Amino acid sequence: MDKWKAVQEVDRQADMFCRISDEIWEHPELRFEEYVSAQILKTALEELGFELSDHLAGLETAFCGRYGSGHPVIGILGEFDALSNLSQKADCTEPSPLVPSGNGHGCGHNNLGAGSLAAAAAIKKYLEESKNPGTVIYFGCPGEEGGGGKTVMARQGIFEELDCALTWHPNDINNVWTGSSLANVQVHYYFKGIAAHAAACPHLGRSALDGLTLMNTGVQFLREHIIPEARIHYSVLNTGSVSPNVVQAETEALYLIRAPKSEQVKELYQRVCDIAEGAALMTGTTVSYYIEKGYAEIVPNHTLARCLYDNMEQIPLPTYTEEEKAYARAMRAVNPRYVKLSERLKGVLGEKGGALGVPHDGEDVSEFLFPYTPSDRALSGSSDVGDVSYICPVSQIVAATVALDTAAHSWQQVAQGKSSIAHKGMLYAGKVLAAAAIDLFENPELLRKAKTEQKNRLGDRSYLPLKELCEQADKKTGKQADKQDREPVAISGSGAS
Ligand SMILES: [Zn+2]
Ligand SMILES: [Zn+2]
Repeated sequence: MDKWKAVQEVDRQADMFCRISDEIWEHPELRFEEYVSAQILKTALEELGFELSDHLAGLETAFCGRYGSGHPVIGILGEFDALSNLSQKADCTEPSPLVPSGNGHGCGHNNLGAGSLAAAAAIKKYLEESKNPGTVIYFGCPGEEGGGGKTVMARQGIFEELDCALTWHPNDINNVWTGSSLANVQVHYYFKGIAAHAAACPHLGRSALDGLTLMNTGVQFLREHIIPEARIHYSVLNTGSVSPNVVQAETEALYLIRAPKSEQVKELYQRVCDIAEGAALMTGTTVSYYIEKGYAEIVPNHTLARCLYDNMEQIPLPTYTEEEKAYARAMRAVNPRYVKLSERLKGVLGEKGGALGVPHDGEDVSEFLFPYTPSDRALSGSSDVGDVSYICPVSQIVAATVALDTAAHSWQQVAQGKSSIAHKGMLYAGKVLAAAAIDLFENPELLRKAKTEQKNRLGDRSYLPLKELCEQADKKTGKQADKQDREPVAISGSGAS
């Protein structure tokens, strides 16, 4: 069957994919509680004729839809979780929550889930009509924003049968993501002291708040002596109490430790733990810690990236009406940054790259395909796609679904999630993933090359979730990773990405 005919399936059923994306936007649900969103996608998969498997890896909102038989087996990754406190009215150019303190799709995962579904549907069409051997599996992956659904699924062997996986992410530009991402661990530090009257008998108290303060101060000093690409951020979940006349007996902080490689994160984690222990020693308190989750870095795969990019070049980018351009202009105007495309390109590709952007400087929504510039550089974010990339070759594109300069995890992103610009970007992404998958079905040599590249890049590293890698290191040094004596404070939707 003609590849482009199969890809047209995305346009043929565009209304359905847009409706699904909008419905998920209207039901923003946090990590592992995406019951409505998962059901919307599962219903669509069944209607499209995929064989559904539910509750993957023991996760209530993880599922997959499969079509075809035999190898190659190509996975299409979909996400659908939202973020807390980002509720926002659609198309509104000022912060205006739809539901006070409600959730919102600040990362565009409503588009991500539906766009990947569009890709899977077109690939199914190709397999159906070509009668070629091969399987496509759409994976509904929950909790990307703060739970690492793919990490749990990877640990349980859910991705083992894949020959490769493809995915995408909503963005303000059109590009292929050739590089890596930052590996990270998210750790709770819990200090326990002794409560006492802060004026009458402070000598009897031991302040857990002092312990926490010294830990945070110690980590500030640590930051000068770590690799520049690493990031350590924290939030205080429990300050003890609101009463200054009490020596605080219990406090808790949540740390997110990131670096380009899992091994580097493990080492940094141990240094942060040393500081926490030191702070406890100084204050006569105790500290226990608990790793909530960890994401591996993405193992780049330039073979797959090139294949995706070739299709990005061949499939026409969305074009926009004057009305859509005006919409993008209004949305861009309320974003905190405004950088000319040429300046942005210059920053990444130098003078020559900058010149390519000049003709597009007047655009407020990107009608430009970034030049292919393979790099292994780790981008500043993290994603649980990294864990999948340890198991099989993975690559992903980004497609413009919002006005230029729209920041992810912002109300501005939520506001644009149901726009026709979002729909167009999502459908474009679906077509690119489908076309690339068809190339891989038709060209076994390409897939072999992608696998060899992944094997070479991994070297002797085998997959072990970063959480377990750190815990293993703790056991070796006799540290207290399993000294957890309480459940950590529940933090719905806290971001690890
Ligand atoms: Zn996100
Ligand atoms: Zn995201």
